[in-house]
Amino acid sequence: MKKHNFYAGPSILPQYTIDKSIEGIKDFAGTGLSVLEISHRSKEFIACMNNAIALVKELLEVPAGYQVIFLGGGASMQFAMVPMNLMNKKSAYLVTGEWATKAFKEAKIYGEAVEVATSKDKNFSYIPKNYTVPEDADYFHITTNNTIYGTELKKDPDVKVPLIADMSSDIFSRPVDVSKYSLIYAGAQKNLAPAGVAVVIIKEEILGKVSRPVPTMLDYRTHIKAESMFNTPPVFTVFAAEQTLKWLKELGGLKVMQKKNVEKAQLLYDEIDRNKLFVPTVNDTEDRSFMNICFVMAEGYKELEQPFLDFAKSKGMIGIAGHRSVGGFRASTYNALPRESVQALVDTMREFEKSH
Ligand SMILES: *Cc1c(COP(=O)(O)O)cnc(C)c1O
Repeated sequence: MKKHNFYAGPSILPQYTIDKSIEGIKDFAGTGLSVLEISHRSKEFIACMNNAIALVKELLEVPAGYQVIFLGGGASMQFAMVPMNLMNKKSAYLVTGEWATKAFKEAKIYGEAVEVATSKDKNFSYIPKNYTVPEDADYFHITTNNTIYGTELKKDPDVKVPLIADMSSDIFSRPVDVSKYSLIYAGAQKNLAPAGVAVVIIKEEILGKVSRPVPTMLDYRTHIKAESMFNTPPVFTVFAAEQTLKWLKELGGLKVMQKKNVEKAQLLYDEIDRNKLFVPTVNDTEDRSFMNICFVMAEGYKELEQPFLDFAKSKGMIGIAGHRSVGGFRASTYNALPRESVQALVDTMREFEKSH
């Protein structure tokens, strides 16, 4: 039976990336060696790294003055690297979920981190709107897509201080005006590649302004200077990322991707809103994520949660159980998830409704 992969991360990758990875594992760039055993200093891998960086710049239309680097440590490492490298005294955070909370916690190690707003009062089911960012903050940190709670900040906010974003779960899902940001980071395993690397896009002029000593490996400038090759990078993950980026480009880029993603999400949200058995966890349609779609059983049908999970599993749906802090269901509809999988889930929900 066909499996429909709705996992939140690591998550579905394009078949193109899987196929090219298999080829690369057998013979990388005609070297006669596997990408798993190639030197990161070989000219073939240096070309792969440079191409991956160039494709990130091209797809996101990264303006001049910005650098793109690939770093180990995942997005969680960025929670600490951001304040360590960019915060002198004060920073501001929009706390919209568990990842944002973790990022905020790290900032408190390095100075006065201010929570400008939070949606914790309603279990992070909305994006706070009217807040003021202190103008003396060294930066303002946001999480554009809240993977666990299914909310998304789809408009690039206008603020007077440098804007920093964790885009782990919606990077490359839509065009972004990079010029509004001073730093963007994203772990690879949601929309780009297997786990093992984070992409960081940095406006170079914001660096070198903190007075604390920063360990060499945790200093962005080290990796910019060494073109992401200061130490051994996760070679295979970067190779896989390059494949996904090529796939995105061949498909027509981020505008095309966005259109597909909005259509997929709409298909599922429409069914959740229509079906008497289910309700969405995010009510404000403006805040609803196009990447992670969360819903629960409606009042009066709570006991059907496990039966629905079992039924969905019998139909090939994988990974739709919600995160433990929300419960219910979460369907992640990342770039690589085909529309047919969303349609299959919708059909499953309809069939289940008929029999209850
Ligand atoms: C998954 C995720 C993270 C954590 O990523 P790691 O690479 O595991 O550190 C951080 N932020 C967001 C928004 C995520 O979805």
